[in-house]
Amino acid sequence: RLITFEGGEGAGKSTQIRLLAQALERAGLPVAVTREPGGTPFAERLRELLLDRKTQDLSPLSEALLFAAARIDHVDKVILPALREGAFVLCDRFTDSTRAYQGAMGGADMRLLELLERIALGERQPDLTIILDLPPAEGLARASHRGGGGDRFEARELAYHEGLRRAFLDVARREPIRCRVIDSTRPKAEVAAEILRLVSSRFHA
Ligand code: C5P
Repeated sequence: RLITFEGGEGAGKSTQIRLLAQALERAGLPVAVTREPGGTPFAERLRELLLDRKTQDLSPLSEALLFAAARIDHVDKVILPALREGAFVLCDRFTDSTRAYQGAMGGADMRLLELLERIALGERQPDLTIILDLPPAEGLARASHRGGGGDRFEARELAYHEGLRRAFLDVARREPIRCRVIDSTRPKAEVAAEILRLVSSRFHA
């Protein structure tokens, strides 16, 4: 089963992935945790380039193609093999981030993005997508506590992050069976419990 986690900056994706992975492992289920962009040595190198503040004036199209190159490597070498072994694959960001960042916000042609998705995935889609939702001001405040100054995308203004939030909610409205929006303003244990209930009922895990 492929479960992807999406949402704006500071929404708590990595925390929730860790908590879900621990819960599934405690139940004796095989789990693989990974992230995008990244997940393989080559894709992690592209990640560095893509997130670096020194990377400027990249067109949405070039950006989308680089994300796609990273994803194809990641899907072929990590995600599909883990799924074939029967693992739950938990991925921090995936195709919906591309739809939101490069598509809705960047203006890259959605038909091209759909084609790139099909090249990477065939007819497959994530089995479940959890969209962690919270007001961007709150998310950015949380993300700033992580330190490190943030990446190229975090550095953008609040209105950009408001747009992203709408873009993710829009994806969820269009694909209500695959996507579930989770209110991430609540305490993390509460959010984790809701995600575990959702995963258990969806996959009888
Ligand atoms: O750690 P986090 O998942 O937030 O970092 C990944 C970064 O890559 C995010 O800042 C996000 O803005 C950016 N990204 C993107 N397009 C994607 C995936 C990630 O712009 N398709």
